[in-house]
Amino acid sequence: MTWTNWARCQRAEPTEVLAPTTVDGVQRAVERVRERGGSLRPVGSGHSFSGAARPDDAQLSIGALSGIVAVDAERSRVTALAGTTLRELSALLVEHGLALDNLGDIDRQTLAGAISTGTHGTGIRHRSVGASVVAATLVTADGAVLRVSEAERPELLPAIRLGLGVLGVLVDVTLQCVRAFALEAVETVVRLDAVLEDWQGILDRTDHFELYWFAATRLAVTKSNARVTGPLEPRSRIGRFVDERVLTDLGHRALLAVGALVPGSARALNQVAARGMARGRFVEPSSDVFTAERAVRFREMEYGIPVEALPDALRAIDRALRAARLVPTFPFEVRAIGADDALLSTASGRDTAYIAAHRWWREDPWPLFAIVEPILLEHDGRPHWGKLHSLRADDLAARFPGFGAFLAVRDELDPERRFASAWTRRVLGA
Ligand SMILES: Cc1cc2nc3c(=O)[nH]c(=O)nc-3n(C[C@H](O)[C@H](O)[C@H](O)COP(=O)(O)OP(=O)(O)OC[C@H]3O[C@@H](n4cnc5c(N)ncnc54)[C@H](O)[C@@H]3O)c2cc1C
Repeated sequence: MTWTNWARCQRAEPTEVLAPTTVDGVQRAVERVRERGGSLRPVGSGHSFSGAARPDDAQLSIGALSGIVAVDAERSRVTALAGTTLRELSALLVEHGLALDNLGDIDRQTLAGAISTGTHGTGIRHRSVGASVVAATLVTADGAVLRVSEAERPELLPAIRLGLGVLGVLVDVTLQCVRAFALEAVETVVRLDAVLEDWQGILDRTDHFELYWFAATRLAVTKSNARVTGPLEPRSRIGRFVDERVLTDLGHRALLAVGALVPGSARALNQVAARGMARGRFVEPSSDVFTAERAVRFREMEYGIPVEALPDALRAIDRALRAARLVPTFPFEVRAIGADDALLSTASGRDTAYIAAHRWWREDPWPLFAIVEPILLEHDGRPHWGKLHSLRADDLAARFPGFGAFLAVRDELDPERRFASAWTRRVLGA
C-alpha cells in the first residue's frame, strides 16, 4: 500500500504497516522488527512536508492510542496518549477548563508528530508545543518502556521535546497546560513597511502576532491575537465557513487558477488576495482562533532566524524576488516565538522569528525556495524539521547548538539505528 504525506511530496511503500492499539502492542511491534533486523518509522497524521515520517521499511502508527489518561488539576498538567490529535486534545482539555498555551495554524497533527518536529505557533512570550512537555513515555529500540520526567532521567527531556521519531515511539506525553482562555482576534491589511519599522514594538505589545505578506505588493495582512477575559463574540458558524472556506480557501484556489492561466497576473491577484484575507475582529476560545482549515494543498519551507533579523531578512527576500521577477501567489508567513531548551529546536536558546515560503502543490516550489533559502541561511537560519530544505547533517550540526548532544542521546537509546531511514541519514548523518 502506498503511503503519501498531506502535501503529496513524500511517498513510500512500507513493507508492513503496524497499528498497535496498546503499549504492549507497540513493544511487540518494535521487537518483531528488531528480530528480523529491519527498521521502522513512527508516523502521525502525515502532515510533515519533509521526509521525517517516510519509512524505508516498516511504518508504525499509534493513531489508536488516543485520549487523556490523567489530569493533575492543581498543576494544570495533563497526560495524553501520543496518538491524540491536537484537535481532539483541545476538545478534551475544555472539559477540564484547560487549554494548550499555544498552537500552530492547524490541529490535524498528532501530539507525537507535533512534538517530534518542533511544531510552533506564534507569540514572543510563548513557546512551541514541545516546550510544554514535562514527561513522556517511550518504547525504545529494544522494546523496553522508558519513562522520562522531572524525576526520572530528566536529562533526556531536552532531547524528547523534539525527538524526530528517532529516540523511540512516544506512547504518552504529559503537558503543562494553562487555564482555558479566549483570544480577541484582529485581522487587518496594513503597509508592510509599517510593520517592519515597528517589528520589535509590535511583538512587545501583542500576545500572538502573525503576518502574511503577498510578494510584489507592499501589503501585509496582520493577525493580532490578545488574551482576554471578557465575553466571547464568536463568528457565526456560517461566518466562519465563509471566512475559512469561501474567502480564504476557495477564493485562494480561484486566484491560483487564474494566476496559472494568465501569465503576469500574479501581482494584481496578490493585491486582491491580501484584501480578501483579513477577517475583522472576533473573540473566540483560543484553539478556534489559533487554528483554521487548510483545504488548499501547498508545499512549505520555513526557517527560524534571530528575532531581530526579521525586517532585514524579509526586505532581502523582497529584493531578491523582484530581481528574479518571481511572484508566488501564496503569501509568506511571519511569526515569532520565545526561546526554549529543546536540543534540536529552531528556537533553542534564542527568541526566534519564522519566515515561511509556500507554493501551491501543483507548482514546483524549488525555484522559489532556491531564492529564499540562501537569504535565510545568511541570517543565521535554522530549518523547521517538518518542512522542506536542502541542508544535510554537517550544515545542520553547525546551526543547531544541541546537535551533538542530541546524537549522543540517540546513540544511547537506538545504537542499532532501528528508527533510521534515508531521511535520518541525510539530516542526522546516520
Ligand atoms: C497544512 C499544514 C499546516 C501546518 N502548520 C504548522 C504550523 O503552524 N507550525 C508548525 O510548526 N508546523 C506546521 N505544520 C507542520 C506540522 O505541524 C509538522 O510537520 C508535524 O510534525 C506534523 O505532525 P503529524 O502528526 O502529521 O506527524 P508526521 O508528519 O506523521 O510525523 C512527524 C514526525 O513525528 C514522528 N512521529 C510520529 N509519531 C510518533 C510517535 N508516536 N513517536 C515518536 N515519533 C513519532 C515521525 O517519525 C516524524 O519524524 C503544518 C503542516 C501542514 C501540512
